[in-house]
Amino acid sequence: MRPLTKAPCPRVLVEHEIDWRDEYIAARAAGVKPLPSKWRHTEIRKALETETAARCAYCDADITAVSFGDVEHFKPRNHFPELVVEWNNLTLACQTCNNEKSDKWDDALPYVNPYEDEISEHIVFVGGFIHAVSYRGVRTVTDIGLGSLEKTEARWNQVNAAMRLFNLWKMAPTSVRSLLEEQIQLFLADTPYIGAVEAALRGAGYPLTAAAA
Ligand SMILES: [Zn+2]
Repeated sequence: MRPLTKAPCPRVLVEHEIDWRDEYIAARAAGVKPLPSKWRHTEIRKALETETAARCAYCDADITAVSFGDVEHFKPRNHFPELVVEWNNLTLACQTCNNEKSDKWDDALPYVNPYEDEISEHIVFVGGFIHAVSYRGVRTVTDIGLGSLEKTEARWNQVNAAMRLFNLWKMAPTSVRSLLEEQIQLFLADTPYIGAVEAALRGAGYPLTAAAA
C-alpha cells in the first residue's frame, strides 16, 4: 500500500453517475442478473490506472503486467449500493486482493484507505514482512491477505533488489556515488511495494529524500 491521491472524476462519470447508480439500485431490487456494471467503463478504468500508476491500491503490485486488474469498490457495493459508481469509492486492485476482500466490511474497523489514512499508523514493513500496528491494520492485512506467502515473497524480491543497489552505493567511492544515487532514484520511481522498499533503505541508513519518501 502506498499513499494515493484521488484524480479528477472522469467526464463519463460526472455525466452518468446518478443514472448509473439508480439503474444499479433498481436492478438489484428487481433481482436482475447480471447487474449492470458501469464502473468498468473504459474511461473510469483508464483514470484509475493513471491515478494508481496501475498498481494495486492494497498490495501495491504492478497490475497490468500480469492482468487487467479489477475496478474495485473500497466499500463493497453489496453493502453500499448507493456508492456503486461514487468516484471516491472506486480504485484499482489486483485479482488476489479483490477476491480476498470480496464483500467483507466492518464499519467499526474500516480498511486502511490509501487515499485518506496515514498508512504507517496502521501498517509497517520489516524486509518483505508486513506488520499491522493498529486494529484497522490487522483487519486490513488479514482480510485482504496482504501477509500471504506469495505477496511476502514478491516484497522480499523488491527489497533485495533495492538492497543490492544500496550496498553498491555504500561501497562506492565518492566519484561514482551520485551515479548510484540516480539508479536508486530511478528504482524508487518505478518500484512496486514501495512501503517495504523505503522501510528497508531507511533502516539501512540510506538518506531518502522527501520526494522519494
Ligand atoms: Zn493486490
